[in-house]
Amino acid sequence: NHLINQIAAGEVVERPANALKEILENSLDAGASQVSVEITGGGIKLIRVTDNGSGIHADDLPLALSRHATSKIKNLSDLEHVRSMGFRGEGLASIASVSRLTLTSRTAELPHAHEIRAEDGVLSPIAAASHPIGTTVEVCELFFNTPARRQFLKSENTEYAHCATMLERLALANPQVAFSLKNNGKSVFNYPAQTLAQRVGTIVGEDFQAACLPVDSGENILRVHGFVSKPTFAKGKSDMQFCFVNNRFVRDKVILHAVKQAYRDVLHNQIVPAFVLFLDIPPELVDVNVHPTKTEVRFRDSQAVHQLIFHNLNKVLAETRA
Ligand code: ADP
Ligand code: MG
Repeated sequence: NHLINQIAAGEVVERPANALKEILENSLDAGASQVSVEITGGGIKLIRVTDNGSGIHADDLPLALSRHATSKIKNLSDLEHVRSMGFRGEGLASIASVSRLTLTSRTAELPHAHEIRAEDGVLSPIAAASHPIGTTVEVCELFFNTPARRQFLKSENTEYAHCATMLERLALANPQVAFSLKNNGKSVFNYPAQTLAQRVGTIVGEDFQAACLPVDSGENILRVHGFVSKPTFAKGKSDMQFCFVNNRFVRDKVILHAVKQAYRDVLHNQIVPAFVLFLDIPPELVDVNVHPTKTEVRFRDSQAVHQLIFHNLNKVLAETRA
């Protein structure tokens, strides 16, 4: 398949958190406003995600589990402009090949739900099931058939922590979506639909929310917006630094450098800033396809990105000194 060969192939699922990310991104792509996550045994035993999105038509259930079947792009030019989270069509297929997966879904057109199971790459027949409009993906015994990969996993607590971090990033980028998390049967959180400011308070902390400054460069081809800690905020930690490019969490040296420089310029001393920043950039000016499991991006014009962020942060930080 020509198109597929043009897309960097890679191992999508290295650990439970990667599987969870793929599943959650599908829920968001399906327009869900409510997403519930259940994790057992660090996500190795069970990951179950239920959403109230558009659902998958019964006829399309086998396709959803087939490699390189995506409903999201049709040709290479779509790829340049992709705005959905997923587009490679390998998320569910990859997970299904290394777990026992059950996909249950109902669309608005059909009177009831259907489900399909995959085990060791073999699909079951489609069966009638009971489920409200939306989808549940249940992944059991991840890596049961790939002991070598399973061996590379850390403790259940560590794998759980990676899953929770992944979920928090997605929750921060999608405050209008309600998210809940259960770990080993116990409720961890239940976020209602919130404004961004509220979600930032919930996830990054009320301390930060009370001591942050809004940033917004305004609608433009390149836009940065979000919240940064006031120069007086002394509790910044590196896990309070969130950047999103076109709503995807990234770790990017260019952005981080611009932020640090903006603080240094105003403060002349070292503090660890806390921030939640969203960079909106035309998709053709950024390559997000560096590696499916990595959080890196490549900008066509990294200097323009650097300047935009430095300039806008510098301005709001300087105002606090005036
Ligand atoms: P991709 O997201 O790259 O298209 P996936 O393997 O992650 O590929 O998913 C395959 C297809 O299954 C998607 O294109 C979508 O049509 C469907 N799908 C998967 N999860 C959901 C969901 N939660 N709600 C609706 N459709 C879904
Ligand atoms: Mg996907």
